Amino acid sequence: MVIVMRKDADQASVDRVLSEVENLGFTPHVSAGESRTLIGAIGPAPTEELREHFAGLGGVETVVRTTKPFKLASREFKHDDSFVMIGGVKTGNGRFVVAAGPCGVESREQTLSAADIVKSGGGQVLRGGAYKPRTSPYAFQGLGEEGLAILAEARAATGMPIVTEVTAPELVEKVAGTADMLQVGARNTQNFALLAAVGRSGKPVLFKRGMSTSITEFLQAAEYILSQGNPNVVLCERGIRTFETATRFTLDVGAVPVLKELSHLPVWVDPSHAAGKRSLVTSLALAGAAAGADGIIVEVHPKPEEAKSDAAQQLDAGEFGALMSRLGPVVEALGKSL
Ligand code: PEP
Ligand code: MN
Repeated sequence: MVIVMRKDADQASVDRVLSEVENLGFTPHVSAGESRTLIGAIGPAPTEELREHFAGLGGVETVVRTTKPFKLASREFKHDDSFVMIGGVKTGNGRFVVAAGPCGVESREQTLSAADIVKSGGGQVLRGGAYKPRTSPYAFQGLGEEGLAILAEARAATGMPIVTEVTAPELVEKVAGTADMLQVGARNTQNFALLAAVGRSGKPVLFKRGMSTSITEFLQAAEYILSQGNPNVVLCERGIRTFETATRFTLDVGAVPVLKELSHLPVWVDPSHAAGKRSLVTSLALAGAAAGADGIIVEVHPKPEEAKSDAAQQLDAGEFGALMSRLGPVVEALGKSL
């Protein structure tokens, strides 16, 4: 249930509603918007009588019974688009962001050179995995702590904030010590202990949809982060598993408007992992932007053919520059700024 306070409601009436919410066994979540305060009451489905009780309290305009299994993520809870700050970079609510960089941090030279390419191409956020969740235990697992130090150096050199993946709850503190944004990957979408841990960290989270996760399951999983009091969640569509094998995954472009309809959270698209092949990345990136995404995360490598992971899908400097010049007009046509 979401309790919408009147625009002129004072703090005393907000406090009264909050204590009543707690007294009746719900957990309150306050969202103090620019014009009014919303109070989410998390708990069992409320009866009509209870709804009326809250609607009758001083300063309350209306009480919305959220029918969705996700609450804090829902448009019913918050009508206006949210934005998330990644360091000094804003995404959502009209601001489109390009995060780019190598799949994995492989060396100092490779990462600094990728960071240069991203920066000079017009990207705003640097990506790069220090901890890689690989399907095979024999594949390159990332440089770990050494990778984090290289990312910190790349940030110092370029001024770009860093997004990097965290693969286990016990690594959250360490990765959050360097990252401006924590990525939770598709293989961890329903790793609820990890979601709660990144929620507690308070850091912005780039939350990827699992390859077999329905949109409702995805938003319920996002709720694990939000319900820890961390509102800084960016949802990311990165392709789902279908019968089709021509692409690595099937980019669910339709998920973008669906997520925007159901949720106030910013939505990004990852064209690289959906495509699996560099020749398809730009088209999927443009499709994601045209579908209403608030950003993309794309893999860029100085020498893609030498990459230790995802070699086939990483763009080189020229390809990234070409993507950026085609992306600009699409983003503008959607009334957003890049
Ligand atoms: C990645 O970003 O390199 C990655 C592993 O992505 P995903 O979790 O979407 O597969
Ligand atoms: Mn990758």
